[in-house]
Amino acid sequence: MRVAFFSTKSYDKESFNHHLPDFNHELTYFEPKLDINTVALAKGFDAVCSFVNDHLEEKILNKLSEMNVKNIALRCAGYNQVDLKKAAELGFKICRVPAYSPEAVAEHALALLMSLSRKTHKAYNRVRENNYSIDGLTGFNIHGKTAGVIGTGAIGRAFCKIMNGMGCKVLAYDIYESDELKDLGVTYLPLNELLAESDIISLHCPLTSDTFHLVNKDSLAQMKDGVTVINTSRGALIETKAVIKALKNRKVGNLGIDVYEQEEDLFFQNRSEEILQDEQISRLMGFPNVLITGHQAFLTNEALAHIASTTLENLDELEAGKELTNEVLWQE
Ligand code: NAD
Repeated sequence: MRVAFFSTKSYDKESFNHHLPDFNHELTYFEPKLDINTVALAKGFDAVCSFVNDHLEEKILNKLSEMNVKNIALRCAGYNQVDLKKAAELGFKICRVPAYSPEAVAEHALALLMSLSRKTHKAYNRVRENNYSIDGLTGFNIHGKTAGVIGTGAIGRAFCKIMNGMGCKVLAYDIYESDELKDLGVTYLPLNELLAESDIISLHCPLTSDTFHLVNKDSLAQMKDGVTVINTSRGALIETKAVIKALKNRKVGNLGIDVYEQEEDLFFQNRSEEILQDEQISRLMGFPNVLITGHQAFLTNEALAHIASTTLENLDELEAGKELTNEVLWQE
């Protein structure tokens, strides 16, 4: 297949080029993200390959359809960025990479949590400046704390196991419960009880109309004072304005985020020479107990290799018109 590859980064090229000789596809790498100004680049291709912030909304799907580009290979797990209803109406075939390395994301959630719990982000800067004072670096043990995990799919399950291994009491909330986790001693609770009992809350559910702003003024009010909140899932699970208020009044003791509600026009670019226009992320950066990374939880060698090989296999199936192993379908 001739594939127009959007939002390309050097690490994408490296991992896809490494696997490409085993497949019969021709990839053309475009650096810009897929939007109304760049969609014309897909003309003459058989498929587009897109990433998390390439919004496949109605107007983009209409343009692709007009150009007869009806195959979409998402090189990510989440698909909240796709208008699936419109795509189904227009006859698109869409596939994704369902679980490329749940451990990569779960371990990044742990990295955020452990940096915050021991303030290593602050200690790192101090020592580099020849400052060996440890005043103000008092942290907390994770051992013995109650960790609440929201969403126990592939990543949430991996995170529950890590927390279990660290000696936490692990609580979980999901619309489907995992017997494997229950056998490990994880306790499923209704959401309000999990919120009230957890010292650490980590979000691992997808972004849907049900989970949009799951962390908001009301749910924050139910949490323990000083709670640590970790989000490696999708930015809009947290209402940024509400969490800023909760940080100011110390309801939230620590916030670790790899995803941000308004990340779309910010992340995945070097903007160090620009004047930051986003007031909310700027406010978040001002808190000493907030740690932000730029959507890198997936970024390990193992995960990249899996993304490349699965996407190329997905393209094989799309080309052969076979039943798609990793198809994304519209559901009412
Ligand atoms: P998954 O599909 O295996 O698991 C998602 C779980 O969430 C499922 O168990 C599902 O039942 C549950 N869920 C759905 N709706 C829910 C609701 N309303 N309340 C509670 N639970 C609900 O997905 P996964 O592979 O574990 O990934 C989870 C999310 O992580 C993805 O949707 C994606 O947004 C995010 N992600 C982020 C990165 C990153 O680099 N930061 C990388 C991969 C995935």
